[in-house]
Amino acid sequence: MHEPEIPHDWQGQIASRIATLGQLEEYIELTSGERAAFEGEPVLSLAVTPCYAKQLSHPALRGTMVPSEHEKEPGSGELADPLGEEEHRVTPHLIHTYPDKVLFLATTFCPVHCRYCTRSRMVGKPADSLSLFGQTFQYIEEHTEIRDVLISGGDPLALTDSVLDGILSRLRKIPHIRVVRIGSKVPAVLPMRITDELCAILRKHRVWLSLHFIHAAELTPETKAACRKLSDHGIGMVSQTVLLKGINDDAQTLTDLFYGLLEINVKPYYLLQCDPVHGSARFRTSVEKGIELIRSLHGSISGLAIPQYVIDAPGGGGKVPILGVEQIRREGEDIVITNYEGKEYRYPDPGS
Ligand SMILES: *Cc1c(COP(=O)(O)O)cnc(C)c1O
Repeated sequence: MHEPEIPHDWQGQIASRIATLGQLEEYIELTSGERAAFEGEPVLSLAVTPCYAKQLSHPALRGTMVPSEHEKEPGSGELADPLGEEEHRVTPHLIHTYPDKVLFLATTFCPVHCRYCTRSRMVGKPADSLSLFGQTFQYIEEHTEIRDVLISGGDPLALTDSVLDGILSRLRKIPHIRVVRIGSKVPAVLPMRITDELCAILRKHRVWLSLHFIHAAELTPETKAACRKLSDHGIGMVSQTVLLKGINDDAQTLTDLFYGLLEINVKPYYLLQCDPVHGSARFRTSVEKGIELIRSLHGSISGLAIPQYVIDAPGGGGKVPILGVEQIRREGEDIVITNYEGKEYRYPDPGS
């Protein structure tokens, strides 16, 4: 196997994404089961940037990117839209679940497709045209109770500088908006996107970045340099980590990741129980396991390195912080949790 020659700029990397079985086999050897995953229509297509594909020999990263033949079998309790976002969709691009914050889905394009993606129903699929953002800005303007806009997708940092600057400028003209965040995995999967020009735009609009990292193996010299550059430009960064079975579900792996993030000025924010999206069974740990892990970190490592463990309540109850076993109740194959409004939600969890 020899890796193909790929342009180093970010748009060249996107244009050369690994999207087929043949391209993937230029980087790693696949098992017959993994090859079988390419037969028929996938839930989520294959997409990996060439720079991230170079690290697929690492078992953790390989596990999150390579399709599995089991993905198409819907697991018990799994949903296409596990967070009930469609029910809270108030414009074509806006999800309003919580009172004072909204989720702005600015693009369905993402440079890589994580196999456990909570938005596999829309990621990598054709989107409505950008002109429809007008309705979204109007909704945010009219709803003066909204203070915090989280722009996500897809990955908003895959938009061009001018589109991003346009969206941010428009949001910053709305007086009641106090916080603007962007959710992104770009520093891990496309670090060359973090240019001085992009940093200047993010700084101008005082954007917080909410980054997605799952393993210390993602903290390559290029990724660390990208985060340091963002930090040098004064951009606040937090990270969200999805708890993934066999990939990062042990205390040492999480500790290495969380300290690695602090060293590049990224504050671990959430450790998320994996959403029960279609095809996610192989990634989901039990909730008891998550509780045990996060408890084991408290006291043994820097408090600054510890994120909040949360379950995003299936059906749209929002994120529920889980502090201990007292807070959960087992009913058969479900865990029952209570959200901030006192309503009960069920997370499908067959146990360990
Ligand atoms: C996660 C999320 C947010 C942001 O929640 P925080 O807990 O404030 O980070 C906002 N809206 C939706 C729909 C979300 O899923």
